[in-house]
Amino acid sequence: MLKTEGIVLKEMRYKDTSKILSIYTKKHGKITAMARGAYRPKSQIIANTQPFSYNEYQLYKGKNFYYINQADIIDSFYSIREKIERVVYGQYMLELIEKSMEEGQENPKIFMLLLKGLKLLSGMDKDFLKFITAYELKFISFLGYRPLLDRCVLCGNKNVKNIRYSPKEGGIICYNCSSYDSSSIYLDDNLYRGINELLYIPLDRIHKVKLPDETIKKIHYIIVQHILYNIDRNKLNTLNFIKALEST
Ligand SMILES: [Zn+2]
Repeated sequence: MLKTEGIVLKEMRYKDTSKILSIYTKKHGKITAMARGAYRPKSQIIANTQPFSYNEYQLYKGKNFYYINQADIIDSFYSIREKIERVVYGQYMLELIEKSMEEGQENPKIFMLLLKGLKLLSGMDKDFLKFITAYELKFISFLGYRPLLDRCVLCGNKNVKNIRYSPKEGGIICYNCSSYDSSSIYLDDNLYRGINELLYIPLDRIHKVKLPDETIKKIHYIIVQHILYNIDRNKLNTLNFIKALEST
């Protein structure tokens, strides 16, 4: 039997009344857990087994997955469901973890980031893309792939004029090295400054960062390429919904 805090990433129906959950736990990283009877009308664990809900779980380990013995809700993050943008960006935060972390891979920094991110998102009414771009930069850094921004990732050149960003190499490349990665993206001064600001600003102070919408969109695009490359994926499903929201 083990006790840990956890946030539900994903739910899947199993047989008639049960659910299989993907839960991101503080102590054991991502786990797969069975919630028996979660779909029964009088189930006591309906609220504890929905995506976003944050619980204190008592689990025991079976042969193939964990079983939920008890769950006490800490925060359901219900207000995320009250606004479409919150749902879409929140689902993206969950999918990022679901698709990039191995089972049992513990990472307390990412757990705290997700928690803080969901709390801020719960009360958010604007500037979602700026928020998520800062979140992505922190997420990928905590995963071990912090973008290298103070010198050329290939030769160490510290001249940051006429630079490009290489998602593959994980940072900026200087003018002399620019031919090494044809998929690199040109960074003007605004983009370069913007990436730095969004990387280092704490999430709860994001309103202090003033950037034009177009700059944020480009940085978001660049960082998504960086993430996809490092987590070895071609796409993330929720990115399509973000694209749809941002184009309206
Ligand atoms: Zn270089």
